[in-house]
Amino acid sequence: MGFVIPRAAFNQIIETLARRYRLYAPVRKKGAGRFLDTDVIMYDEVTTADEIVFDAKSDYAFKEALTPLSEVLFYFTEATTQEASFDNRPLLIFARSCDMHALKRLDQIFLENGPEDVFYQRRRELVNFVLMGCANSFDNCFCVSMGTNIAPDDYLFSVDLTAEGVACNVQDEAVAALFKAYGEETADVVPAHVTENKVKVNLPEQVPFSVRTDPLWDEYTVRCINCGRCNFVCPTCSCWSMQDIIYTDNGNVGERRRVGASCMVDGFTDVAGGGSYRKKNGERMRYKVLHKIYDHRQRFGINMCVGCGRCDDVCPEYISYSNIINKVYDASKEGE
Ligand code: SF4
Ligand code: SF4
Repeated sequence: MGFVIPRAAFNQIIETLARRYRLYAPVRKKGAGRFLDTDVIMYDEVTTADEIVFDAKSDYAFKEALTPLSEVLFYFTEATTQEASFDNRPLLIFARSCDMHALKRLDQIFLENGPEDVFYQRRRELVNFVLMGCANSFDNCFCVSMGTNIAPDDYLFSVDLTAEGVACNVQDEAVAALFKAYGEETADVVPAHVTENKVKVNLPEQVPFSVRTDPLWDEYTVRCINCGRCNFVCPTCSCWSMQDIIYTDNGNVGERRRVGASCMVDGFTDVAGGGSYRKKNGERMRYKVLHKIYDHRQRFGINMCVGCGRCDDVCPEYISYSNIINKVYDASKEGE
């Protein structure tokens, strides 16, 4: 069902929805960027449409709604454990096509890669989406190469800000009733999506073993400073580590948290007995890149990377992940 409604009416719809759902959308945080005078666009709860940034790519993805950076799982004493409570109100997330595709990857990791992760599952059941259309490609995006430029259609409604008004494709009956209260149904609205990006990647069908020892990775041993920023902005990076926070001197009372982890930083591969693997930054890069464009596909049938380009946007060393994919493609061809 299509609607093209004035901005004021759209604002009222969003305020009505904010009473039914927790709205989670990209917002601009003034002065919170890399330098004092730069902003950052990241997800936060909103109650009005004016808070939402529609005209720029968010620096961070929505994934913290499902996998918080730090989450208390349970509390323990000597004899008992108590599962941590969480905010169980329904959630409405404003996301672009690539990020909606990222959800499928998170589901595969948390729900299909062995027993279901109950802490993920309990949040996942609450999630609904609003699709934010992409009239233009942003810097470093390569969603077309990754096949994620057209969104899955399980959203409640889509949003495109146009000269005529806010164009929405409404999929949900209950939400459609709300839209009808504010405007006339029009001809069908197709959510805006890009059909070409400036950045293009070639994906290798097969990655021969020789690529794992190819000298191409050595460059990143030198250039990468293993800060982990690329992992934290990525909508599909989902690794975590466990932390016990102890309240008492005897160590028997406390809480267990899971916290976000990065395969690019020191300590990620430390194991009991003092072992540690992938000590070179180039080896970490190899592990990350091949996981994103090959190993996940071998297991689940689709690439993990959705081509959002955020890792390129954020890297302080200007390392281009899309360039690396193309280098892996060339090395794979040579190795065949
Ligand atoms: S953001 Fe750049 S420098 Fe930092 S870990 Fe990732 S690739 Fe390395
Ligand atoms: S690897 Fe980079 S381009 Fe791919 S989904 Fe993650 S942040 Fe986006």
